[in-house]
Amino acid sequence: MECLEFRRWLGAEPRSQNPDFLAHLEICPPCAAAWRRAQAFEKKLRAAFFDTPEPSRLADRILLKQATLVRRAHRRRWQKGVALVASLILIVGLGTPLALNLLARYGLPMLSAEHIPGETMSLSMTQPLPDDMIRMGFAKREVQLAGPPPSGVTYVQDCLLGPFKAVHLVMRREGIPITVFFIPNRQGQSRPDFIEKGLYGMEMPLQHGTLLLLSAKAAILPAVAKAWTATLDGPSAETATPGSI
Ligand SMILES: [Zn+2]
Ligand SMILES: [Zn+2]
Repeated sequence: MECLEFRRWLGAEPRSQNPDFLAHLEICPPCAAAWRRAQAFEKKLRAAFFDTPEPSRLADRILLKQATLVRRAHRRRWQKGVALVASLILIVGLGTPLALNLLARYGLPMLSAEHIPGETMSLSMTQPLPDDMIRMGFAKREVQLAGPPPSGVTYVQDCLLGPFKAVHLVMRREGIPITVFFIPNRQGQSRPDFIEKGLYGMEMPLQHGTLLLLSAKAAILPAVAKAWTATLDGPSAETATPGSI
């Protein structure tokens, strides 16, 4: 492998274990220096974006935040975050593992909002499903519910949300459909209030996956989030006392 090819490879796959790649790294000091810079850059990115603190008492924190001005500050921070991530993805190159990682980490609101138009019929269903059908929907994704499902679920389907295997549900509150996604085994970020494609949304990491809610009305989401937390994590998660925010 020559320098030019090495640099291209480095841009696309900084952590490559390809033997030719590693061999060139051994013999070429300028490329080795570039390799070290790339590793340091990636490490910095990971530290900045991926090392988020462990979520605790999330439902309560979200409910409290909802009622405070923190909400507005959070939204501004989130919008800044999106712009930053978009520019980072352009810098590191689309399709590289790091870009895919960033997209996966930050793109859930976008992926979920874009998924809904493909199943618009789900939004007009009004007949509540029996609990067994909802349990079966989760079982297809190897998820066992810790409590009874919330009332008013009218749609359940195992879907792909971008690269993620998800359970896709719709439920109704005050006559308004709420789209619910649960992505098992995925610990995402906590986003108490995002807006995507004209829908209000919440993203919350639960014990065994990530919950996403989207609806035309923001005010109905916190209670729904609380209900699903009890369903998926167990009733104890719901009764946790409001504490630090
Ligand atoms: Zn070289
Ligand atoms: Zn779907």
